[in-house]
Amino acid sequence: MKYLLLITSLFFATSSFSQQSFKVSHQHKNSARAQQAPYILLISLDGFRWDYVEKYQPAFLSQWIKDSARLTALRPSFPTKTFPNHLSIVTGSYPQRHGILANRFYAPDLKKHYSLKEQDAVVNPDFYLVNPLWVLAEQQGMRTSSYFWPGSEAAISGVTPTYFQPYDHNAPHQQRINTVLQWYNLPAERRPHLTTMYFHDVDSAGHDFGQGSPELIQALEKVDNSLKDLTTKLAKLPFEVNVVIVSDHGMAQRKREDFEQLPSWVNQEYYVKGSGPIVHIYDIKGSSKTLTETTRQLNQQAQHYKCYRYQDIPRRYNAFQSNRIGDIACLADKDWAIGLFSHRPVGDHGWSQFNTTDMNGVFYAKGPAFKKGIIRPIAENVNIMPLLAHILGIKIPHEIDGKVSTLAPLLNHK
Ligand code: AMP
Ligand code: ZN
Ligand code: ZN
Repeated sequence: MKYLLLITSLFFATSSFSQQSFKVSHQHKNSARAQQAPYILLISLDGFRWDYVEKYQPAFLSQWIKDSARLTALRPSFPTKTFPNHLSIVTGSYPQRHGILANRFYAPDLKKHYSLKEQDAVVNPDFYLVNPLWVLAEQQGMRTSSYFWPGSEAAISGVTPTYFQPYDHNAPHQQRINTVLQWYNLPAERRPHLTTMYFHDVDSAGHDFGQGSPELIQALEKVDNSLKDLTTKLAKLPFEVNVVIVSDHGMAQRKREDFEQLPSWVNQEYYVKGSGPIVHIYDIKGSSKTLTETTRQLNQQAQHYKCYRYQDIPRRYNAFQSNRIGDIACLADKDWAIGLFSHRPVGDHGWSQFNTTDMNGVFYAKGPAFKKGIIRPIAENVNIMPLLAHILGIKIPHEIDGKVSTLAPLLNHK
């Protein structure tokens, strides 16, 4: 991190740029080969459920997706939470492989706590076990940038995007858009070929106000207007950008009273993390019971959840290989919340990606790399990274869970 250099107007002479700042991690240029590669702008709309366009008909997106290459829905990885899924999208790997098993978890292998709210944890590369696409691209001579993405602030394998922005929940959309446009206006040798962006608004309103609320509709409108503004500005560039719009998961409506408290003895004997659709239990307090015995006892009392030793989590969740999810993980029934204390949101996500369509997200893509007006069936989000790597000509030198063949039918092979 000592190489990081905070710039305000280093590259840009215009004074209107001087209010904005982002981090520049090095001064390398695109390799000659990278400079020939296409451009991809990967945009995450947090918590944008698979059916929101049809259900709420946002003015811009409803039109824009018509001639896009899209999936009927995007299946998130388990747990269907923000950080695990953003990392799945950019690593092509399930959380048990990439290591970010929740927004907040304990890593027994590192003896360290992770939380999306703790900067020290978020920037600690030790937590991230698979190189995201931007790291591979950077290693292969291609410049990348990020206006937010979970993991983008950590020097994973010693590498961050060339240009990136520390997370600021309240950064105005206009600032995000202007900065991305600044990056696209850089000379070709410094221009990023892979850029990420992130908008939280739809997720926040979905949690706090729920389906059909004026606040959710307003958040959708706000994001929709920003996408319109952004794509209008992109269309004026002298080169084409492939715009890929995704979401990390959907959103379910729940009743606030559908909450079941875990017995308090668990908290005395174990470290208990999280509340809501999933609770993580770590055996670090020296409990005298075996994990099998504890799991059995919990399940005897449980009404609306089921606990598993992590190895026994049903195979189809692809979450049985890492005890970062908890030595024991308790999974609430659909739309129920569990924990030591109450759980307030009317909207939430985190439950199984198989028991309901509510957890499903979106995948819409448009640009020279994609066919126009093609719709393909639901696919898992781990398949996105190998697709984007293929478009950019980036090699993936390690094993991942996703396959390029799954989404390749969306590509324009001209
Ligand atoms: P969730 O609890 O899964 O709904 O998480 C959504 C929240 O994650 C958003 O409201 C943001 O505040 C937060 N978030 C998203 N991206 C980042 C990031 N890169 N760094 C820190 N927090 C983030
Ligand atoms: Zn999310
Ligand atoms: Zn959320």
